[in-house]
Order: sequence, then C-alpha cells, then structure tokens
Amino acid sequence: MLLRFASFNHPDLVHAITTRQGGVSEAPHDTLNMSFSRPDAPAAVKENRRRVYAALEIRPERVVQAGQIHSDDVLVVTEAHAGRGALDRPSVLPPADALITNQPDLYLLACFADCTPLLFFDPVRRAVAVAHAGWQGTAKHIGAATVRAMGDAFGSQPADLQVAIGPSVGPCCYNVWPHVAEQIRAALPMQREVLAERDGQTFFDLWQSNFETLLACGVPREQIEISRICTVDHADRFYSHRAGNGVTGRFAAIIGLRGEEH
Ligand SMILES: [Zn+2]
Repeated sequence: MLLRFASFNHPDLVHAITTRQGGVSEAPHDTLNMSFSRPDAPAAVKENRRRVYAALEIRPERVVQAGQIHSDDVLVVTEAHAGRGALDRPSVLPPADALITNQPDLYLLACFADCTPLLFFDPVRRAVAVAHAGWQGTAKHIGAATVRAMGDAFGSQPADLQVAIGPSVGPCCYNVWPHVAEQIRAALPMQREVLAERDGQTFFDLWQSNFETLLACGVPREQIEISRICTVDHADRFYSHRAGNGVTGRFAAIIGLRGEEH
C-alpha cells in the first residue's frame, strides 16, 4: 500500500507514496485511487483515503490538498487550511502545485499519475513540502520555487534539506512532442543531458532535470534520493496516465511532522 524513502527516517516525520494496492476502487481505477478528480465513485475514494490515513496514523481533519494545474505556485499551509480537500473534492484549496508548512501535525497531500512527486524535509527548521512536477512544473523549476519559498517562510537553508524524487514516467518511456521538447530546451538551457534523441523521438528525463534544479539551488547531492521507478513500466503498482491511455486513477504523496501530543 505504501512506499517510503530510506533517507526520510526522522522519528517525527510521516511520509509515503501510495501504490495501487489495498483499496476498494474498481477498474480502471483499481484499487487505491486517491483522487476525487477522476470519474471514480467518491465513496470509494473516501474509503481509500481513510485506509491510507489510518495506516499512517493521521487524522483526516489534519490533511490538506490543493488543486493542481502544472503551475509553479507555492502555498504556505497553515492551521486555517487543516482538513481542506482531505475527504472530498469541493473543500480542496485553490490551485498550488507546491505546498509547504512548518506546522506540526499538518499533512500535505498531492496526487500523481506519471508526473513527478517531490518531497522535502528540513530537520533543522522542522518544515516539509510536497510538489507536483510534470514537464511543465519541471520546466518552471518548481523544485527551486519550493526551496526558495521554504527559505522565505521558515528560514530553511538548502544545505539542510532532504529531498525525495518519487515514481514518475521515466526517461525510458517519456517521449515528448517536438514543440514540448523545444519549450523544455528553452526553459532549461543549463541542463544539457535531460533530453535524449532515440528512434527519431525526443525523451525527457524528469528525474535528472529535477535533480539538477535542486543541486543548482544548493541542495547537497547526497541529500537527494531518487526512486527511479518508472510508472509506465510499473503500471501494475502505480497509476500511469500513459499506460492507462488517460483512463486511470491517481496515487498520492503525503508528508508531515507529528505534533507533540502524538
Ligand atoms: Zn519506463
């Protein structure tokens, strides 16, 4: 049901990437679809989410989700947002593709099916973040926007950050249209190795691109963990927009820090 990062091993840190296993949704959303935005039964998604929250020992009224629109907008999540988007669609926060918080016992959630989840943990300032990085967010340097926002809001230093780059469509499977490749090339001129030509097609490496963006803003190389799990090749374990021809569910990335009372 849950995938965790070996480097995110702080005792107060709660985090996970959900898989497809352990839920109640029926095909083509089988079984642990975490998204209310898909044409899946809302009651099934609600049950799936309840199971995940229970497994993580967190309360739904402490979970927060925002809309996702492939932007590089960052939202500072506060107590006032607690519970928004946790168990239904209407209460979801307005769009922001990165969520950051330093409030204990608030858990940030975002949904994915081929886009790259980025998770951030600052053990010094006790802050966390989750970001949604598809090709557009990646080309907009959403990883850097998140690091910057954590610095501005919490005083986080890039050198203190632990970052995880989660499962997404890999460089093996992510062929992009020529006009997309052109936009990526224009947006990421310093990243020479992230586009590769093969069999007359252009492939984009979301993992390497986000890695290089994080390095460029000062996150130490040894503090960045990359899952290197391609969702297209592992569509039995993770939802993949491409493998499912656009008809599938979404898995979630969740992160937060336990409060003192726990
Ligand atoms: Zn692949």
